[in-house]
Amino acid sequence: MELVLYPEPVLRRRASLLEAIDDEVRRKAREMFDLMYREKGVGLAAPQVGWSVRLFVVNALGEPDSSGERVYINPEVEASPGPVEEEVAEEGCLSIPGVRGKVARYRGLAVRAIGLDGQAFREDLVDLEARVFQHELDHLDGILFITRLSTTERMLAGKTLKKLEKEFRERSRPTR
Ligand SMILES: [Zn+2]
Repeated sequence: MELVLYPEPVLRRRASLLEAIDDEVRRKAREMFDLMYREKGVGLAAPQVGWSVRLFVVNALGEPDSSGERVYINPEVEASPGPVEEEVAEEGCLSIPGVRGKVARYRGLAVRAIGLDGQAFREDLVDLEARVFQHELDHLDGILFITRLSTTERMLAGKTLKKLEKEFRERSRPTR
């Protein structure tokens, strides 16, 4: 399993619902955690490993501690009951190395999803957990955090993005 980097097209695609949760899915989710820990991330969405399904893994502890491990399958945001509160904080993405920038996200939200055991669950998330959920859910809809940056920050990221685009073209060139 390898990390897929910007601008691979799979990162811009809307991922499909995951219909069945079997051993293969459980094995892949485990591999995603291992890859995420190696890359020092707090969240990883299936499209980031070239798997276009609605699944992501999160561990907001930022270290390989299984007590913080969460798997969200076919996740959804429930309507927030109170007034919507947004918070701006810096984000990065394992698929876009070298780019960081400030993104506004809801500070808290109620979500629902299916777990690896096939059971539906609902959770109230706040702060980092809420932010990671929104960043990863965006991945399932083909949205990258760079599209949510301010114009200034997007301009600052431009050089790094150009470099990643060039590396992608070189990787994709047919070998003979
Ligand atoms: Zn990301």
